[in-house]
Amino acid sequence: MTRVTVRNLCLTTSVVVSVLSGTAAASAQLSPPPAATGASADATNRLPGAQSAPDRPAVLSKRIIGQSVKDHPIRAWELGERSADVTVVAIADMHGNETGGEVILNSLRDGRAIQDVHLWVIPRQNPDGVLRSQRQNARGVDLNRNFGVKWKPLTGYYYAGPRPWSEPETRSVRRFLNTVDPDYVLSFHSPLYGIDVHGAKDRPFARRVAEEMALPIKEFNCSGVCHGTLSQWFNARHDGACVTVELGYDPSERYLNVRGPRGMLRAIGGHRRTAD
Ligand SMILES: [Zn+2]
Repeated sequence: MTRVTVRNLCLTTSVVVSVLSGTAAASAQLSPPPAATGASADATNRLPGAQSAPDRPAVLSKRIIGQSVKDHPIRAWELGERSADVTVVAIADMHGNETGGEVILNSLRDGRAIQDVHLWVIPRQNPDGVLRSQRQNARGVDLNRNFGVKWKPLTGYYYAGPRPWSEPETRSVRRFLNTVDPDYVLSFHSPLYGIDVHGAKDRPFARRVAEEMALPIKEFNCSGVCHGTLSQWFNARHDGACVTVELGYDPSERYLNVRGPRGMLRAIGGHRRTAD
């Protein structure tokens, strides 16, 4: 594995991104991109050391962005077109017992080539939780309460960890999002079934996601436990907008493999390349 040092584009400190690579060893300093749409595509364009995946036509590259508590890799797959105007990061399985989003993201990854959007998918942010079929990570921390904005020392089911950013799974995602600096983040959960448009940073985008993914528009009440979430942190620290996608209890296989991925792609302005 090659370790590549890149400049953190948002916080101006340097970060380390672990990438999957058995070949060229390299370290590269990336210049901050111009403040134009698609700037993050310029930056990720120059991240060296990525592997291609010739058996998956939609995939431009794949990387390991970090490790879980139990040393399982957290993978990101780069899809679409780096020259596209919009860059999106979609994250699933932050809660290990809510795995429908992983099916949607894997379907996008494994299908035909994608155009008109630059899309990164992280299908399994919490591999230890998935292996245990539990919400929390291997240390019992609810990762969606461990981010560093509005963090509170919650205990029990929503245990927020001993301090903000205490868990490697949240730090990996912070590092990755700070580097890519996407226009949009989609965070997949279940089973509340809907999109919270009222609290959204970018309501038109949230409405588009709801409409295209055939999910109802809702106003979720967190019962006082919405602290230290990914969306709170990303929406406060980045120019882009994070939307939480809540799937239902038991989405159909057809929804997860066809309707959901197709709708998500439409919502972010992407298209499948038609076969020649
Ligand atoms: Zn969840």
